[in-house]
Amino acid sequence: MGNMMAKPKILVVEDEASIRKIVQTYLESAGFSVTCVDNGRDALTLALSNPPDLVVLDLNLPGMDGMEVAARLRESSDVYILMLTARGEEADRVAGLRLGADDYLTKPFSPREMVARVEAILRRQRDVGGSRQDHTLRFAHLVIDLDRHEAVVAERPLDLTVTEFQVLWALAASAGRVLTRDQLLTQVWGSSFYGNDRVVDVYVGQVRRKLQEQSDAPMIETIRGIGYKFVDPKQT
Ligand code: CA
Repeated sequence: MGNMMAKPKILVVEDEASIRKIVQTYLESAGFSVTCVDNGRDALTLALSNPPDLVVLDLNLPGMDGMEVAARLRESSDVYILMLTARGEEADRVAGLRLGADDYLTKPFSPREMVARVEAILRRQRDVGGSRQDHTLRFAHLVIDLDRHEAVVAERPLDLTVTEFQVLWALAASAGRVLTRDQLLTQVWGSSFYGNDRVVDVYVGQVRRKLQEQSDAPMIETIRGIGYKFVDPKQT
């Protein structure tokens, strides 16, 4: 990190003291500036007065629940949100991702995994938020050049159609974050597309097959019932 970059600020919203402490400890060790609160109202107040770069948000909070906190945060900011959910909250996860959460972790989770997710989300923020016009994405096994419409795996270009390339670009540009089928539809086909969102599954399937022909590294994860996530295998 360059010296221009201040420590990224993380706001942790979690009512269970033991989890809050673990999350804080691991994030601070990883070099983040961490503030913790145990309820939604304090989270919103703090997010307004001292906007964080990312919010780690427990979904199941007493009083104002995490879903409402996420919705209210989204009214006024584009802050990144990593949701913490309990097992069996599949419907909540889907709703949370649709509300604009960027990724989620299911409890119990590994603190190291949590730090890796936070870093992945913020890395994307730097990549797309930087002023440099970088139209190339580089991963351990894959390089994608937007201007040349070329994706290279193991030094060999993939034979992708235009739409397949766009699907891969959309996923890779959001590396580490879950994209819902709706988000992929909007990004690749545009918001005027009225077809079935299963078209997304078809294209992702084709892209994945072509990637696998040239590399064993799993790069596109299926998030059941929600969508897909591009992962850089060197990070896992
Ligand atoms: Ca809780």
